[in-house]
Amino acid sequence: MTSRSLIDSFQRRVSYLRVSVTDRCDLRCAYCMPERMTFLPKADVLSLEELDRLVSAFVRRGVRKVRLTGGEPLGRRDLLFLVERLSRFLGADLDEITLTTNGTQLKRFAQPLFDAGMRRINVSLDTLDAATFARIARRDVLGDVLAGIDAAQGAGLHVKLNVVALKDDNAREIPELIRWGHARGHDVCLIETMPLGEIEAQRTDQYLPLSQVRAELESFWRLTDISDTTGGPARYVRVEETGGRLGFITPLTHNFCESCNRVRVTCTGRLYTCLGRDDGADLRAALRASPDDGLLDAAIDEAIRLKPKGHDFVIERKQPAVARHMSTTGG
Ligand code: SAM
Ligand code: SF4
Repeated sequence: MTSRSLIDSFQRRVSYLRVSVTDRCDLRCAYCMPERMTFLPKADVLSLEELDRLVSAFVRRGVRKVRLTGGEPLGRRDLLFLVERLSRFLGADLDEITLTTNGTQLKRFAQPLFDAGMRRINVSLDTLDAATFARIARRDVLGDVLAGIDAAQGAGLHVKLNVVALKDDNAREIPELIRWGHARGHDVCLIETMPLGEIEAQRTDQYLPLSQVRAELESFWRLTDISDTTGGPARYVRVEETGGRLGFITPLTHNFCESCNRVRVTCTGRLYTCLGRDDGADLRAALRASPDDGLLDAAIDEAIRLKPKGHDFVIERKQPAVARHMSTTGG
């Protein structure tokens, strides 16, 4: 820890930055965004050089882990340029650069990402059934995602599968997804749907508390709590029968804000200090006001000082906690 570390007023140290490099996406997952999604004007989006400068400012202030996300990060043209630039910090100021992807273009990018220094990625996979995939994602591309996962493993990337638990669409398939992932050596992480941004449906219709999923899994598997952490909010168990790790991200049934170590930056340079609130700062203005990082540092300091104590997601409220979608803030 340095004297310039980013510490908020609840004594939480910010060491993890998630960067949404684009809000655009080639899929339209029904729980994430509407089919007719309005994307941000391209002119508002930071260049990759600006994103590098922004992330570098956080790394100098003690951020040790950077996750690139979106929208679909592999849909951002020349993303590899950013990964290669940021890799200069690896092994010294930065422990890890990682990525969350829907996997559709991973076949092409897996090896270059590994070559640029990436070692772990998260791939979202809510189902192994092509028709269910086409219904959830509204695009019929499960084959591309599975080929991408294979390519990632072949390139030497450690893969974690992110599965959003959906009452109607995949609840019955969750054990099979876990078995499939563990048989291939992947970690699997289950996520509760969060009320972020308007979609066509009511999220309550698909909301499935993970406490319920866990109870069901425990009716036929032995789950042993383990203390492993990957720097995020997941709580892990070992599934004794498969030998694999299973994570639970439970923003609704268990609030994990007291140990929150992360902040998010959007592709337009907006800093959000909490996924479920609007607090933050416009870092693009600070970035563009001067080539010197003084203003940028001051804007970051002020926002971190005001980082909220926590979110208050309530799925029954039937309205999004915040108007922006997960694809804007970066999941
Ligand atoms: N497009 C990439 C992907 O799908 O992995 C990265 C961005 S996506 C917003 C990141 C993660 O957020 C995905 O695992 C996705 O399933 C999840 N997600 C999206 N909207 C969500 C919501 N409302 N509640 C919970 N998880 C959500
Ligand atoms: Fe795209 Fe990811 Fe949202 Fe699906 S969850 S629509 S892949 S950003």
